[in-house]
Amino acid sequence: MMKSKFTGSFTQQEPIPESAIEAAVEVMRSGRLHRYNEAPGEKSQTSILEMEFAAMSGSKYCLAVASCGSAIATALRSAGANAGERVLTNAFTLAPVPGAIASLGCVPALVEINEDLVVDLGDLRKKISETSARIFLASHMRGHICDMDEVSSICERAGVILIEDCAHTMGSRWNGVWSGRHGLAACYSTQTYKHANSGEGGLIISDDPDFMARAIMLSGSYMFYERHLASPCSAHFKNARYDTPNCSARMDNLRAAILRPQLADLDRRCQAWNERYRIVEARLSRTEGVKLPARPMAENFVGSSIQFRLPEFTKEEIVAVIERCAARGVILKWFGQSEPEGFTSRYDSWRYFDSGRCPSTDRILASLLDMRLPLTFSLRDCEDLSAIIAEAVGETRHGLDLGNRCRSNVG
Ligand SMILES: *Cc1c(COP(=O)(O)O)cnc(C)c1O
Repeated sequence: MMKSKFTGSFTQQEPIPESAIEAAVEVMRSGRLHRYNEAPGEKSQTSILEMEFAAMSGSKYCLAVASCGSAIATALRSAGANAGERVLTNAFTLAPVPGAIASLGCVPALVEINEDLVVDLGDLRKKISETSARIFLASHMRGHICDMDEVSSICERAGVILIEDCAHTMGSRWNGVWSGRHGLAACYSTQTYKHANSGEGGLIISDDPDFMARAIMLSGSYMFYERHLASPCSAHFKNARYDTPNCSARMDNLRAAILRPQLADLDRRCQAWNERYRIVEARLSRTEGVKLPARPMAENFVGSSIQFRLPEFTKEEIVAVIERCAARGVILKWFGQSEPEGFTSRYDSWRYFDSGRCPSTDRILASLLDMRLPLTFSLRDCEDLSAIIAEAVGETRHGLDLGNRCRSNVG
């Protein structure tokens, strides 16, 4: 019997909404793409975006920058990270996170994750005392949020500054609180594969006026900082304007114009992702051999991708599942493969710093698979693709699809 093939594209996001295209065209017609190139009396698109995002997130201040990676570097520097210093972050995260730390001459200190793909709080306490690090950059990798009430209190008691990497949690909440509102500051991504799409882009939020004044100067505001509308008053720039280097990481009006209508539509998009996530999750949770991360009630996540493990499978069997899925059009990423490919998220491919070993993280990543759920997939698509995965797992479990492969224990 011919097996059905899935034909959706895992890298195809929705088109940019027409209203955003119109806004972008208007900015291009004006020629004023640079955020400080304003007509008399005009508020720039970038400044308006910052006001709108501050209002959405409930933060006092917001700054738009060139990417989430540059947002993280800016936030760390503004929080006082100095060259040579260790900065704590999750062992499972995306390459720009340790990259941002390293860009300041700081050294990532990796904290283990647990089977639910969030930071292991016991290891966080241990690493805080072992490293005496002053900053924890909590990376909500693939949208998994750890117990933020507990993290906040651990950091507070230890005098550690908490900065959140919310690249995958724009629109998420922990216990009703917006993801990104638990520490000194948070960084978001508007890169194509995240929750709003301007190609590249980043946002920083904070309630701390001196932190934000430094961040604005660092982002490359020159002496135009008073044109920012979601910013602290000029008194906070008194020293910052002279003491802070211009690291040129601004957002431009074109991207801001593209983002504003998308952010206005964020809740609907988040719901649409979650409908898709729940369909795939339900099918996989009924599939023997598949282990899904627990998603606590307090975690109001955005399921723009799904992760699952095959903990009892050998490497060969995992490869067989991936191949069987790929043959039917379902593309899975595997964090256990030996050589880095595409977007890297395994710490042993970042050899520019001495990471040490994280044995729990290694064990978890060895059987961890990952799949994007773009909104161009219909609910029916999600049913179809999860059935394909379930079949591939089932056939592999029963040794049906190993073909000519010799299983070492068969003889
Ligand atoms: C994408 C991503 C980033 C970096 O975002 P850019 O905007 O591409 O720089 C940081 N952290 C995580 C977890 C990400 O997924």
